Amino acid sequence: MMRANPGIPLHGDHNECPGCGLLFNSTHAFDKHRVGPHGARRCLTPEEMMAKGMVQRGIWWISERNRSWQPST
Ligand SMILES: [Zn+2]
Repeated sequence: MMRANPGIPLHGDHNECPGCGLLFNSTHAFDKHRVGPHGARRCLTPEEMMAKGMVQRGIWWISERNRSWQPST
């Protein structure tokens, strides 16, 4: 599958959404981004993610704004 961001290496728990190409610092954050029943999942928009308390740090979305920011290695 073509990656949306082929120049960005994914390490550890990083995820790149195959639907919209956004980048997530953890599988947990990625799971929060995908909603709906199996077979009809959709991506949350950045506005919807921020409404759930998710924040973007640099290029990476993380699940909670008050979690200390540590890039996955
Ligand atoms: Zn997505």
